[in-house]
Amino acid sequence: MQALDAETGTTPLADHQQLARDIFRELIEIDTTDTSGDVTAAAEAVARRLIDAGFPEEDVRVLGPAPRKSNLVARLRGTGACRPILLLAHLDVVDARPEEWATPPFTFVEQDGWFYGRGTTDDKAMASIWVANLLRLKREGFTPDRDVVLALTADEECGDHNGAKWLTGEQRELIDAEFGINEGGIGRIKHGRRISNMVQASEKVYVDFELVAHGTGGHSSLPTPDNAIYHLSAALARVAAYEFPVKLGEVARAFFERMANVESGPTADDLRAVLRTPPDPEAAARLSRIPQYNGMMRTTWTVTRLDAGQSNNTIPQTARAVVNCRLLPGESPDEVRRLLVETVADERVEVRPLVAAKPSPPSPLTPELMGAVERITEELWPGVPVVPTMGIGGTDSLYFRQAGIPMYGVSGLFFDVDDVRAHNPDERISVRSYFEGQEFLYRLVRALAG
Ligand SMILES: [Zn+2]
Repeated sequence: MQALDAETGTTPLADHQQLARDIFRELIEIDTTDTSGDVTAAAEAVARRLIDAGFPEEDVRVLGPAPRKSNLVARLRGTGACRPILLLAHLDVVDARPEEWATPPFTFVEQDGWFYGRGTTDDKAMASIWVANLLRLKREGFTPDRDVVLALTADEECGDHNGAKWLTGEQRELIDAEFGINEGGIGRIKHGRRISNMVQASEKVYVDFELVAHGTGGHSSLPTPDNAIYHLSAALARVAAYEFPVKLGEVARAFFERMANVESGPTADDLRAVLRTPPDPEAAARLSRIPQYNGMMRTTWTVTRLDAGQSNNTIPQTARAVVNCRLLPGESPDEVRRLLVETVADERVEVRPLVAAKPSPPSPLTPELMGAVERITEELWPGVPVVPTMGIGGTDSLYFRQAGIPMYGVSGLFFDVDDVRAHNPDERISVRSYFEGQEFLYRLVRALAG
């Protein structure tokens, strides 16, 4: 493959690779942070390239609810035999403090086989690849069975104008699709080896609760048992002891099946044993000690904040804690709230929800999607398994899933799992990974768009 040569720097890049690199550079060098940046400038830069390449102006839209927060939506027209496919990426990036970086974060730097800059992994690699590939498909005269809709959005990371939410709410027709591809699934490298290509097909749901314990405050020289800190800590001990039941949905089952082939020895046996009906309780208990597997098997909660008291000689009237929950898709936030009240089991400790949950349904692992991902993964990285997964972070896919558009996080972009630099200083992607990901996504869109 051409991309392999690109790693050594000895062979010139193919035209489509050079184009992707140029767009990547342009996007990295436009500051799109919420603090000081301008997402609209990046959306307009992309729009110019598409219009210059012959996309009709009515098929290239830059639109949004606020001046610095416009999104780009572009359309490569197909025959209309099938409903569109959506290609999604976000243009905004998190802040970067130059003093923490070895290179200037908003300058695109290629060094020793790596591309450096804020957004090189999250999410401008994918954004630039989508644009370059759309231009390539246009140049090749590709007329797919379905329209290919590209959406590059604002405020995925932070800010008040999340583009995915806005587009699904206000511009549904423009982004309507049968299904879509987004970030959220990477290729995993461990000890220098490519070990799996992930497909994120669902996400856990994020919910915070505040526990507020009440007691009789007063001077510490005259204590009583009615102490808010005692009430809270007893409640937290019960919260800590509670374990959610194991529940494996379609995505988790597929994940465990594939990981049983990636792992070896007793862990592989345990992965197979929890797939039985009912799941083997001892295997489940052993896997529960591995946080990554535990999070895939069940809803979890954990205490993240604790706050009480102001002076060493005063008993406070209240004590607070925050319990953060990650619900399996399909679980009800109200149900978890009831369970938390039941577990706390003390009327002196209030349970208050802090943020509204944003549940989203899992996307079905269709043979069409999985078949294409598996075939192309095998072409590019023979022997590397495709592993469906449930996201534990949270991506913009949730807004589309809520709107009834199945989304899949799959990129073919490989990263070392022990060197994650998204949101961190010296963010980078390897040159080889970038161009291989470009090729993967090119073939995937060609296959899925028909
Ligand atoms: Zn991202």
